[in-house]
Formats: sequence, structure tokens, C-alpha cells
Amino acid sequence: MSDVPAITVTKVSKQFDNIEVLRDINLTVNKGEVVSILGSSGSGKSTLLRCMNWLEQPDRGTIHIGTEQIGINAQTRQPMSNKQLARVRERVGMVFQSFNLWPHLTVQQNVTEALLYVKKLPRDEAQQLATQHLEKVGMLDKQHNYPITLSGGQKQRVAIARSLAMSPEVLLFDEPTSALDPERVGEVLAVMKQLSQEGYTMVVVTHEMEFARAVSDQVVFLEKGKLIEQAPPEEFFTRPKSERVQQFLQTVRQ
Ligand code: ADP
Ligand code: MG
Repeated sequence: MSDVPAITVTKVSKQFDNIEVLRDINLTVNKGEVVSILGSSGSGKSTLLRCMNWLEQPDRGTIHIGTEQIGINAQTRQPMSNKQLARVRERVGMVFQSFNLWPHLTVQQNVTEALLYVKKLPRDEAQQLATQHLEKVGMLDKQHNYPITLSGGQKQRVAIARSLAMSPEVLLFDEPTSALDPERVGEVLAVMKQLSQEGYTMVVVTHEMEFARAVSDQVVFLEKGKLIEQAPPEEFFTRPKSERVQQFLQTVRQ
């Protein structure tokens, strides 16, 4: 079992308004790996990530979380019910660019909400998990604050704690630092780096090249919905095969 990948994307294609935004994507994310997804705006990065927890449905192809195919009931081969989907989604945490914290709940309540009402844990257990994960991201001292009192970097760390507290097998990050003031980027990347060192499996859409280079096990590059390059970071950043990636790296280095 241990060598079953955390996520297997097989021949995934997706159209919006007759435009192919994902074309025949194959990608394997092994357990404990960090995979960074790079590419210019509109290349399909968010769509691919959102397919991995069925926020978007591919038109063709399959996605497995461990051995389970997401979206399709294994017995009936019919679409999963919302309840089944919710259960699979618990295994795949998502962190968004825009944090998506509840404004009317405190930091602690933001973390315990899904533990209480989705996982249906007893309150003391939910609070214990919240404490543990807020401590991990350095936000325990703000547990009684409301999101509006926090900086963007602090909000994102709370959003990460909220995801972690659900004990997902994989964490998906969609440009987690893109909405932040430059001086707040580092604290979020530091948390993500720490998670990677603890062995979390992570898929990260990012424009932070240094982070991708230092933390990833694999880097993939999307161009117009096609996965055109995939390599370990050393190779990707020093010896990219495609001209498109060479050009991209030159532009971002300028
Ligand atoms: P990226 O994250 O790389 O910037 P996206 O996956 O968000 O790219 O988008 C890929 C393409 O799909 C873009 O052309 C975008 O406009 C289009 N797109 C994304 N989501 C939708 C949607 N819900 N409806 C229609 N078009 C969409
Ligand atoms: Mg995007």
C-alpha cells in the first residue's frame, strides 16, 4: 500500500466554453512529496488543482486519491453523492490565495468549525486540535482574534492551520502568497517549508521560484493547458528541456 501515490492524475482534459484549458494531463504525486506547479496566468494551474478535489470536474480522464477514484462511486460507477464527495474531500485539504476565513468567527472557531460540524468531533477534541495546529503555524496567541484584526500573512497561516487540523493526506495550495504584502510572504513560505520537512504531501501552485527550487521534489510547468515539462528542481531550473521553460526562467530572473 505504501507505494500507492497520494494523487494520480491520468489523461485529464477539461474545457471551458469550448476552450481546452487542460489537455491530457498525467501527473503522479507520491506520498511525502512536494510538487510545484508553475506556468503563466491562464495556463490552467488552478483548474488542475481544483480538479484534484473535484471543485472542477474534468471532461475526460481520472483522478485517484490514494486508491480511490474521486467523483465516481467505485461500486455503481455513477457520480458520487455529495456525502461521498465530502468524505473524499476531507482527504485533500485546500489553501486558497484569498484565505476564505469566516469573518464572523474567531481564529479558533475558524479552525474548529469543520471539525465540529463536518468531522463531528466533540468540542474538547476539536479545540485541542485547533490549539495544536495554531501553535504549529505560530498563531496560537491570536486564537481569540477575529480575522479582520490580522495581517494577510497571519490570515493565511490560520487558513493553513484550519486545513491541517482536518488531517488531510494531501494539501493543495493555490498561489498561497500572491495576495500578500511582500514582507508577509516569508512567514507563510516558512510554514510551508516546515510542513514539507514534516513529510506532508503538498501540491503548490506558485510564482515563488526560490521556494519551488528549495522545497519541491518535482516541478511541473503548464503551458496552455499542457504539461510541457516535469523534472526535479535542480534539473528544471538549470537544464530545462523546452524552449518555453528556458524563456520563462529568463523572464522571471530579470
Ligand atoms: P491559471 O490558474 O493558470 O491562471 P486557470 O486554471 O484559472 O489558470 O484558467 C485557465 C483558463 O480557463 C483561463 O483561460 C480561464 O479564463 C479559464 N477559466 C477558468 N475557470 C473558468 C470558469 N469557471 N469558466 C470559464 N472559464 C474559466
Ligand atoms: Mg490560478
